[in-house]
Amino acid sequence: MREVTVRRLALPLVAPIVTSYGQQQSKVCLLVQVDLDGQIGHGECAALAMPFYTEETVDTAWHVLVDFAVPRLIGATFDHPSEVWEVLSVIRGNHMAKAALEMAVWDAYGRSCSRSLADCLGGVLSEVPLGVTCGTAASPDALLESVGAAVAQGYRRVKLKIAPSWDVVPTAAVRAAYPDLTLAVDANAAYGSGDFQVFKKLDKMGLSFIEQPFAARDLPLHAQLQSEVQTPLCLDESICHEQDVEIVARLQAARAINIKPARVGGVEASLRVLASCRRHGLATWCGGMYETSFGRAASIAVAACDEAGWASELAPAERHLAVDIVRKPAKLASPGRVAVPVAPGVGVELDGEVVSRYSVRVWSASAGGHRM
Ligand code: MG
Repeated sequence: MREVTVRRLALPLVAPIVTSYGQQQSKVCLLVQVDLDGQIGHGECAALAMPFYTEETVDTAWHVLVDFAVPRLIGATFDHPSEVWEVLSVIRGNHMAKAALEMAVWDAYGRSCSRSLADCLGGVLSEVPLGVTCGTAASPDALLESVGAAVAQGYRRVKLKIAPSWDVVPTAAVRAAYPDLTLAVDANAAYGSGDFQVFKKLDKMGLSFIEQPFAARDLPLHAQLQSEVQTPLCLDESICHEQDVEIVARLQAARAINIKPARVGGVEASLRVLASCRRHGLATWCGGMYETSFGRAASIAVAACDEAGWASELAPAERHLAVDIVRKPAKLASPGRVAVPVAPGVGVELDGEVVSRYSVRVWSASAGGHRM
């Protein structure tokens, strides 16, 4: 690898993103550019501004990329992008930082051999079925309005963000208005051992799954709840490695896994998590991290490998981003489905002018040294 450039971008959102972790006012992300023997590739780091979803932030990702990950790859040669995951595994955790660099290598590799990322990964789907998330709202009526908009666009599943004081009542209101809707809830780890009654009430609402009710490390508590409710539990924050899937299976702590490539360490790590879920009979689907259409295209390529997967949450980024960084952002290919990119590499083209305009910090390193 000859040269790497890391850019920090700050992009305007359509509206603040509200979860049980707090509000996100703008989309900050890192864009990594690699020069792999003359072939340019890009990768997006999905780390958020605050360390509430995982430990990483956009600033820790910058530090890990610039001071540790990039120096290990500069001057290195690879036979195949799947080797990057192994090379970077010497750096503990910091999955989103490492995933960005790996994505850039996959992008350069795909472009150099004129193959799409999905094709390189053995993707089997040409379109990925989609679900969407509706955040907490000012009132059940406001929530019903956003659910109605999602249903009208043909999304295959609607997932409601829940939090203490915003759970049973709004979910019941949506279920009453849409008796046949494929419906799920996501608690983002906001509950504890004293909250089983909340989930027993939700268990009667015919939900597809209840996502991450408890703290990421508290798999025994998830196992206890799973043994007391019929609804499958789905784990998100708990799963950062294929070994986590083995533990979940042994404890019977959940029946489904939300695979976010950034959270588990990238493309290669995602395929390993997916294979582990298959071995243990756990349902899977791919989740999003409010990425731009660039990072999202890479996740869609991973989702294309999951023929039996449930609807993924990889809807067009225009749902959350007011400004995107690619020339032709993905749209819905048909109601509730997105096309898997077929162009070489990640499969979408960056808009260099937009990237420059919204870059707030740039750093480069080459085999001959680095410059700020
Ligand atoms: Mg989640």
